[in-house]
Order: sequence, then structure tokens, then C-alpha cells
Amino acid sequence: MPVLTEDSPLTKLVKKNEAEQLARTKGLLSVADLFEFVPRRYVRPGQLTDLSSLHVGEDVLVVAEVKKATTRPMRNRRGKMLTVVIGDDLGNELDVTFFSAYGHEGKLKPGARGFFVGQIGAYGRRLQLTHPEYELFDDEEAGEAAVEWYRTHRVPVYSTTGKLNSLRLRKLVHTALDTVDRIREPVPEDVRVARGLVDRAVALELVHRPAVDDQPSRGLDRLKFDEAFVLQTILAQRRKAAESELATPRHPRPGGLLAAFDARLPFELTEGQREIGEVLAAELASERPMHRLLQGEVGSGKTVVALRAMLAAIDAGGQAALLAPTEVLAAQHHRSITTMLGDLAQGGMLGGSEFGTNVALLTGSQNTAARRRSLLDAASGSAGIVVGTHALIQKHVQFADLALVVVDEQHRFGVEQRDALREKGIRPPHVLVMTATPIPRTVAMTVFGDMETSTLRELPRGRSPITTHVVDADRTGWVDRTWQRVAEEVAKGHQAYVVCPRIGDVDNESGGAVGGASGTRDSSDEDAGWDAHWDDEEDGADGAGGDGDGGPAKELTGVYAMLSTLRATPALEGVRIDVLHGRLDADAKDATMRAFSAGEIDVLVATTVIEVGVDVPNASVMVVVDADRFGISQLHQLRGRVGRGAVPGLCLLMTQGAGERAAERLDQVASTTDGFELARADLLLRREGDVLGARQSGRGNSVRHLRLGRVEDEQIIADAREDAFALVDRDPGLREHPALAAAVAMRLDEEQAAWLERG
Ligand code: ADP
Ligand code: MG
Repeated sequence: MPVLTEDSPLTKLVKKNEAEQLARTKGLLSVADLFEFVPRRYVRPGQLTDLSSLHVGEDVLVVAEVKKATTRPMRNRRGKMLTVVIGDDLGNELDVTFFSAYGHEGKLKPGARGFFVGQIGAYGRRLQLTHPEYELFDDEEAGEAAVEWYRTHRVPVYSTTGKLNSLRLRKLVHTALDTVDRIREPVPEDVRVARGLVDRAVALELVHRPAVDDQPSRGLDRLKFDEAFVLQTILAQRRKAAESELATPRHPRPGGLLAAFDARLPFELTEGQREIGEVLAAELASERPMHRLLQGEVGSGKTVVALRAMLAAIDAGGQAALLAPTEVLAAQHHRSITTMLGDLAQGGMLGGSEFGTNVALLTGSQNTAARRRSLLDAASGSAGIVVGTHALIQKHVQFADLALVVVDEQHRFGVEQRDALREKGIRPPHVLVMTATPIPRTVAMTVFGDMETSTLRELPRGRSPITTHVVDADRTGWVDRTWQRVAEEVAKGHQAYVVCPRIGDVDNESGGAVGGASGTRDSSDEDAGWDAHWDDEEDGADGAGGDGDGGPAKELTGVYAMLSTLRATPALEGVRIDVLHGRLDADAKDATMRAFSAGEIDVLVATTVIEVGVDVPNASVMVVVDADRFGISQLHQLRGRVGRGAVPGLCLLMTQGAGERAAERLDQVASTTDGFELARADLLLRREGDVLGARQSGRGNSVRHLRLGRVEDEQIIADAREDAFALVDRDPGLREHPALAAAVAMRLDEEQAAWLERG
């Protein structure tokens, strides 16, 4: 065999068609990729198992003979399924099933003898092995040697692909482990020693070829550390590079615009707001460009904090830009900032304050005249603050002296956009990113690891707590009680939201029955907010049957069906009920929202459109119908619509026949209002790709081994971060760490490739 290294393409190890399959289905291209392809689990047979004493869940190693083999076509899929009955000399039997007969049919014929390794499952009342590893032998001696290996090792089970079953994959990995002469070691020895980490070569053995007493998890922890360490090295280098650019220091000016603003603030800043304000002021006054993430839930007072930083920048002679993800939000920011500033926003105008500045708005759909004016104000410097959408980033937009860029919601803002904005300053501007999505520490450290973070944890005084309960809709008494509670709130002069997972047919408004031919989903974009993700998760995880939801798919409750239900509910007689959803045209939506704000509607039946930007302090109760159809974070965001004023909020999560896992999610939401805790729980359940997807974050980071929702992994990341930042501080160019430099380069290439692929 030619010399094999970790860089060797898999074509050097396997046949061309196998290599193609590994590349296509698992993304494995090189020997190193194969090494990183870790088993899904381990079977630990330990000893030969007696066929007469088997239990579900038990890992077994049995030596047996094929008694019978039958193939039959499958009901829902193409291909044939193979069922084999194996038996021992004493007449005990066990079923063995392969959902694809391909490759096994020819081998597992009656009379063939061999051993089978796997975990005992059940189909109906019969025990069975599904897709076991097996080897057939003609001569007992060869058989015994193989059996001996299985008795002394934990058997790694790999996720299989087509013709490549777990056994084949294991043999490939073992061949590679035995052939590659030097295993790479990206983590320097001192770090390894200090952290008590095993060598990478040892780690790979532990993961892919563990002896019975070994702990594969120790090997996996090392691979996790590698992953975190390389990522953190990249972030540390990025940070270092950013720090070497010089920003213009923006010193505070006593008695300026900020002071005037503070003096007329109608409330006291919370401690968090004050502290973060000081941090921002210090960073603005420094030559190091600020690059900070400000997180805090909706209503925690981020905008005020950002505005104060903008005013400080203006005091120092610069300008600030506020970038919003949508036109609606840009307009809303423009309005609220102008309102908050009052006459301070009327610089140069009759009656304006002597310190005054101007706030300009720049969006794509503005008419030419308004646009031109805003462009002029930005370029001349007469606008201290320019609020806008991505239109702000375009080439022809110029600033007199851009000092600070505030980005609202990081999700749709990528590195490229940031760079484009940076180029608009004479020197790079300071950057502050605001997000209302609670970002767990693991994600903050990885996805946003090149930024500093600040968190507003306390809500401004006067906010009331939200109580959440799960309501079992199968119990009519509970449902009646729910609507009664809504009626009680309305009677007290408060308002309510009823959130449904779909819009449904308008026909239902006239009292038609729920159901019919309307299908279960709407294609309306805005309402796709209900978490389609959960469908995949539950179907994908356990295959047919999901998590026990079972039965035919439940018809989801639509807004219109709910409307007629509520109108027919005696407890709600005389209550003013209306609907809001994404299929209404903009004017209608606006009118409904205004009427609800004005208290002219008591109960608003809506889809998740109300998730963003709706603020009606008088709303005290929210009922979420079919709550099991929503994700954890989404439910948390939704209920943030109530309890915004002096009235305590109540959130009722209505659910019917939810599976075990869905029920668990709802209980979690009901048990805490800590957004961070919930975000972490959500992370644990979601696939990492969804969380870190560059589509959302504008960044190419993704992780293979780390599980960002796990507390243990948080520690690994924190350790790796500390070590990587210290190393980059000493050796920014990684000249003394060539192996690490190579790993970093490889990782960056992968990200680049992934980026290009997504287009
Ligand atoms: P966020 O941007 O985090 O959603 P905002 O800054 O928009 O929050 O603040 C939400 C509301 O709370 C606004 O009406 C704001 O004026 C008000 N607010 C902000 N800080 C305080 C405070 N310290 N005390 C009382 N009200 C506050
Ligand atoms: Mg806000």
C-alpha cells in the first residue's frame, strides 16, 4: 500500500465507488475526515450470549447458524427487506432483520454459520436484532479469533451508508489507523499536559478501537477539545487582527447631547444599563475598535443603551448608523429614536435644542426625494444618526465621519456587511450588535467568539412576571376554564392574544367545522414561523411512529376556525374578537394592530405574526393553541408579548395528545422564564447546524463533535478558548505551531467551501 497520511484522499484507501459514496453521503473526503467520523454508539457484548436468555436493550454477541432466510418487498420504500432466523444447537432462535437485503441476501443462506453482534430490540412481541454486525466462518478457528476480538473490545457502531455497513466502516478506520504512520497533533504538548488530555493518536484508538474497559468518551472529549481549540485559535487571530486596526477615539463631552438626553430621561437607568453604558463609553474613547454584542430580551432596554452610545459618538464629532433587518423595523427605530430625543432631534431647526442633531432614515422603498435628502444629510454630517436597512451598506452611501455602527439583530448580518460598513469610515468605526435572542454561552463563545459580549439581564422596573401553564385540551373542563380566564381578563379591561399554528380557511368563519379539505399547512411566508423544524426532528429521530405521537396527523387549528369557536363560546359573549395573520394586506394588518393597541379589540386571534415588534402593555393573557407545534424559543418569544405593562402576564399553552418529548418541551417553557436556560434546552434538541447555520448568522461556523447545549461541552470550549487566546497572544502568526497552523488553514478552507456551496 502506498504511504497513507491523514491528508490522503479516501480513494487511496477504498474503491472508487465507495469513496464516492462516503463523499456524497457523509462528506468524508480524506483519511482525516474518516478519523473524525465517530461512532454513534458502542455495543459492549463482553462475552458470548446464550440465545435462550435475551433481553431487550442488551448488547449481545451470539454464535449461531442461519436457519431460514426470507426477503419481501417493503410497503413504503423501494427495495427488499431481509428477515433471517438464526438458531443455536439447542434449538433457541432469534430473528435478524435487514431493511435492505442488498449485500446480505447472498451471504445469509440457511446453513451459514457465524457470529452476530448488536443490540436486542423487539418487533411486536418477538425479539430481534436489526442490522447486526456479523461475520460468517467456515472454519471454527478463524471464527474463534474473530469472536475473541469482539469479546475484548467495545464494538463501535457507525452510521451506515448504502453498501457501507458499520463493519465495513470499522474495518476501513482500523486499516487507516494501522497504516498512517504519524497521527497529527494540533494541540501543543504543554496545553495537553495542563488539561490532562490524551494524545490525539490515543484518542482515535479510544474512539474507534476501544478495549472493553476503555472509555471512548475520553477520546471523544479530546476530539471535542481539538475542534474547540482550532475554532478559538481562528477567533483569537481574528480578534488580534481587528485590534491592530486603529479606530478614532471618541471622547465623552460633558454637557453635550448625551448629558442633555440623560437629564430628560423619564426613568432611571437600570444598573445593567448604566454599567454597560460605561463600558461602551470607555470603548468608544479607545483606539481599539469596539466590537461588542449586546444581548437582552425584548424590552430589556437595549435601544436606550445603544442610543446613549450614539449620542456619545455625536458629542465627539462623529456620526452613528443604525442598521435594522427590515424596513418596518427601521421605520420603527427611526420613529422611536426621534420621539425619545424630542427637540434634541431637531438640530438646526427653529425651536430645536442648541445641541440638537438630526435623525435620517434610509430604506430601499423611499421615494427619490426623501432618499436623496437622507443621503445628503449623511454625507454632509448634518444627520448625526442615520437609521436604515441594508440600503445603508450600498456603495454610494457616504458619511462625513462614521464613528459607530449599531446593528439590530445579528442573525441577518454577516461579516461581509460589517466589512462594507467599516470601509465607510475614515478609520474603522466602532461596532455594536444588538440581539434579543438569548445566546447561550457556548454559542457566544463560538459563533460570536471574536466579539465581546454584554448582557442586560434585568428588565426595567415596572415589568410584571409571566406565569405559564400547560392546558390539556383533551379535558373540556380545562378548555372551558381557559376561555373563562380570558373573559375575566377582558372584564377587568385587559386584552388577550390567542395564537394558532395556521391561518386556515375564511369559510370557517361562518361556523364551518374544523377540518375539511383545506390541508394542514399554509404556505404564507410570514406564518411559516411555526416551527416546521419539529416535524423533521420527530420523524427523523425515531423513524415511523415518532416519539409516540402516533395516530394520523392531527389537523392543526386555524385562525378562522378558532375565531368561530370563540364566537360560539358562551363565556365570551359580547367580547370583541378579531384576527391578524400574514395573508391580510398591509393596510388591514396595520388597521387591526392599531385597533388592538387602542383597546378597540379585546381578543386578537393571530398567527405568529405577533412574534415581532408588537407592544401592547394592556394585553395580559396569551393562549397558544396546539402549543406542541411550536419550538421552545419561539414560545418564549411569543409569551413576551404579555406582561409588558403593570399587569401580570398569563400564558396558557394548550395542547392535545402531544408526544412525550413535545410535552417535555412545554413543561420546560412553563417552568422557567429564563431565556438563556430555554435557549440552551432548545440547543440540546436542535441539530447544531440549525443553530449555527451561516444562513442565519452570516457566519460559516459549524461544529462536528461539540454539542453546544451541553454543560460539559461548555467547559471544554471555555478551556480551549483560554488556551487558544493565550497561545495567539504569544504567537499570533502560529509560526511556532505549524501543526495548529495547518489545522486552522484546513478549517478555513472547509468554511470557505461550505460558504461557496451555499452560494
Ligand atoms: P429593547 O430594545 O431591549 O427591546 P427598549 O430599549 O426598546 O428595549 O426599551 C423598552 C421600553 O422600556 C421602552 O419603552 C423604553 O423607553 C423603556 N425603558 C428602557 N429602559 C428603561 C428603564 N431603565 N426604566 C423604565 N423603562 C425603561
Ligand atoms: Mg428594541
